[in-house]
This record gives sequence, structure tokens and C-alpha cells, in this order.
Amino acid sequence: MTKQYDHFIHGKWITPAEGGYFESTNPATLEVLYTAARGTKADIDTAVRAARTAFENPLWRDLSQTKRGHLLRKLGDLVGEHADELARMETEDNGKLLREMRGQLATLPEYLYYYAGLADKVQGSQVPTMNPAILNYTQREPLGVVGAITPWNSPLTLTTSKLAPALAAGNTIVIKPSEYTSRTVLRLAELTVKAGFPDGVVNVVTGLGAEAGAALVDHPEIAKISFTGSTATGSAIAASAASRFIGCTLELGGKSPNIVFEDANIPNAAMGVVAGIFAAAGQTCIAGSRVFAHRSVYDELLERVAERAKSIVIGNPIEDTTELGPLAFAAQQEKVGSYVDLGVSEGAKVLTGGGRPDVELPGYFYAPTVLTDVDNSMRVVREEIFGPVAAIMPFDTEEEVLRLANDTQYGLAAGVWTQNLARAHRMSRKLEAGTVWVNTYRAMSPMSPRQGFKNSGVGIEHGLESMHEYTRLKSIWINTDEGPVADPFIMR
Ligand code: NAD
Repeated sequence: MTKQYDHFIHGKWITPAEGGYFESTNPATLEVLYTAARGTKADIDTAVRAARTAFENPLWRDLSQTKRGHLLRKLGDLVGEHADELARMETEDNGKLLREMRGQLATLPEYLYYYAGLADKVQGSQVPTMNPAILNYTQREPLGVVGAITPWNSPLTLTTSKLAPALAAGNTIVIKPSEYTSRTVLRLAELTVKAGFPDGVVNVVTGLGAEAGAALVDHPEIAKISFTGSTATGSAIAASAASRFIGCTLELGGKSPNIVFEDANIPNAAMGVVAGIFAAAGQTCIAGSRVFAHRSVYDELLERVAERAKSIVIGNPIEDTTELGPLAFAAQQEKVGSYVDLGVSEGAKVLTGGGRPDVELPGYFYAPTVLTDVDNSMRVVREEIFGPVAAIMPFDTEEEVLRLANDTQYGLAAGVWTQNLARAHRMSRKLEAGTVWVNTYRAMSPMSPRQGFKNSGVGIEHGLESMHEYTRLKSIWINTDEGPVADPFIMR
């Protein structure tokens, strides 16, 4: 029988108030994996109340910062012990390679250890004043109940990027995972209880974006929304948060340029281009989907990238030999296909790929695709496809490629391939993107702050900076002079 998951609220499994469940399917085999509770406003309300009660509970509120760190460290140990089980679940849910999910899960404890180490470094400072008798100091306080909403492409990594700093800073949390990848986030919540976090500190309500997600965003007791997902959803969330003057951290979409100069190591650059767009079947926010190659190396780069694209082994992501799995669900496959068709109708040529590859499994596969004869004005180059589709364009000068690279609504990431040190720094300074990689692509660490510029986001994830996103700063003034308080109407 298909396994059924309920919501995880206040340390317990809670059936959905309106009784509904939805199916989750393996995108490679189309087998139904499990059903999960279809959360509604009532379930969100139960979870937020549980999180608010836990926030006010002395067991959590008065726990020392050092001990909060211990709990996060214990959770990191538990995630490490269950890494293989969690990686398999994620692969079955979203179709990404088991090898990739194993890699993500192997580093996930490091995210938790990093914030465990920061938990007792959340602190204020003493501030000088005009009057030496006045002591002014600041303290950083938790916000309250954080609402976290996450996508399907890296479910646990993206959830942990929010949960770890939020808990280290002393908040409680309600998570609404993507409807395509509910169960590993539920499993993580279960592990938080095993690690010793008090009931209600971590709660998960599963369900659809327009139902459970929207209800979480609009709940009056939520102190902050931390969201990773599409720019369209992020914009609606920002509007709702603004109407209630609550903060939000938004990690949104991208259309990142990957730029290859004539002085680059071309074999390395070609690998970087392939990694940037075909790893994870292009289903990453940081995908290097716009490739600019200097005209003098354009043909060589194109040939190398196309050759590797054609030789990518496509199949069941659970197999160790597979290099590219399916897209995560039917609508993703349709979207990618219709963007390629649109590109062709705009004048693009399909150098390789451009359709469903010959794979025996019935899933949502799409071949690694290289488009040429494209330019920055085409929708296929301007809009996020979120699939294995690279648009490769030639350029002649540094000024020109900088202008083209920055001519986008997005600003998440950018890659530069060059052996000229001065050019590497010049480009890094001038590219309008929150992350710039030189002679590498997709490098990431919990220690390094990540911010989307322009329509790619608001606020910072990872690093010390993201801890501050989960606190508010209070300024406290103490008069140390016990003498009479001056009459305010007698001016001296
Ligand atoms: P999405 O916006 O459709 O959904 C993301 C989450 O939001 C899901 O949990 C969904 O259920 C929920 N949601 C949908 N509508 C909602 C609403 N009206 N109110 C509240 N919640 C709602 O995005 P997706 O398709 O799941 O993910 C892909 C997108 O995420 C891409 O655009 C990608 O670039 C982006 N992404 C960004 C980053 C980053 O760090 N910048 C990382 C990964 C993915």
C-alpha cells in the first residue's frame, strides 16, 4: 500500500483538517511513491500556533545560545547518519542524480555545524553616546515564528539554509516544502525532535503553493517569510509581506551568463559550460543558461560542448552510471519543450538535443540541448527555462559582453573563464550578479553569503550575514547617573 504522510506539528503526526491528500510520483518511472497531506488554512493556523507556543516556552526561549548550538550539532550528526536514506528519497522524488543528492546530503551536516558554531556568536555591541553617563547597547533578538517555503530542486539543502540560521538565532519555524518533494523535509523535522529540539520548534505543513503556501505567507502571527522559488511567486510574497511590514528573504530565479574569453583554458571552460547548464538537468537557479564565447574561440567551444552534450548518459537517476535524469514533473517537461519550440520560431537553430531522448523509462526526460543563432532579444535567452537548454552566442569585445551579460532582469550568478588576472577582477566588479565564479562554476558553501541582485532576490542566505536576517536589533539606553533628572524645559 502507498505510504501516507501527515503534517508534522508540535512533534506529532497530525491528519489534515480537511482530510485531503495528494500523490507524489517518481519522475523517472512515473510510479506513485506516497501521498502527503494537502494542507489548508486550518492546518497552517494549527502549526503557526504550535510554533508561537514553542517560541514562548521557557524550554526554548530560555535555552542558552550554547545549548541551541549543541542541538544543531546533534541534528547535523543525525542527518549524517541518515544521509543515504535521505539522498535516495530525494532522487526518487525529484529525479536528480543519486550521486548528486548523495553529495548534497554528505555536506548537509556541515551547514548545521556551521550555524551550530554561530549560535553563541549572535550578539549586540556597546555604542558610544554623547553623554558618558548613558550606557547604550544593542542586543539581537529572535523574530518569532519564521515561515519557510522551499522548492523541489534541492529540498533539504534549501530548507536547511533557512532552518539552521533561524533556529540558531532562537526562532521557531513552520516549513511548507514543495508539493513535489514533501517527505525528506518531514523526515528532517522528525530528526529535530530526536536531536532534542522541544516540540513545536520545527513544524511542517505539506500541500500546494496556492493553498498551504499562501496561507502561511498571509498568517498574521508569522514574523518573517523566507522563500526560495520562482520570481513570480516571490513577487506575490513580497507584496503580502510588505502589507504587514514583515521582512522577507527571497531567493529567486536566474538567467546567468557564463562567459568564455579568448584567453581562457578552452577545455576547462567547455567543462564549466557543460556543468553550468547540464548538471542537474539545468534545474538549478544558478544554471549558466546564457553562454557567451569570444568569436575567436566560439567554434571550438561550441564543438566541445555539443560533443559532451551528445555523450551524456541519460537514464534512471538512481543508477551510478547515469549522468542526466528526468525533469521533475510533467509541466517542467512541457515548459522546456515549448521554450525550445519558441526559440526555433524566433530563429534559433537546435545544434543538439531538442526533444525527448530515447530512454526506455516512461519519465519526463529531455535531451541536453544547445541552441545557436540566438541573441539577447529572444525570449528563450531572456526568460528562465529551468531545464537543460544552453543558448550559445559569440561576442567581440569585453565591453560588449559585459553589456549583454548585464542586460537581464536577473542577477543571481555569473561565470567568467579567463587566464587574465586583471580581467577576472574587472569583470567580477562590473557584473551585476550576487555570485561571480572565475574559472569554476556552481561552487557553494554555507560560509559564503549568497544574494540575488535585481529580480533574483532580496536578502542574504548563508554566511554570518544570514543569521542577522533572522534577528531584530534592539537599542537599550541606561542612565547610570542616579542624580536628579533634568527639567526638560530648562535649557542650558
Ligand atoms: P515555485 O515558485 O513554483 O514554488 C516554490 C515554492 O513556493 C513551492 O513550495 C510552492 O508550493 C510554493 N508556492 C507556489 N505558489 C505559492 C503562493 N502563491 N504562495 C506561497 N507559496 C507558493 O518555484 P519552483 O518551481 O518550485 O522552483 C523553481 C524556481 O525556484 C526557479 O525559478 C528557480 O530559479 C528558483 N530557485 C531559486 C534558488 C535560489 O537560491 N535563488 C534556488 C533554487 C530554486
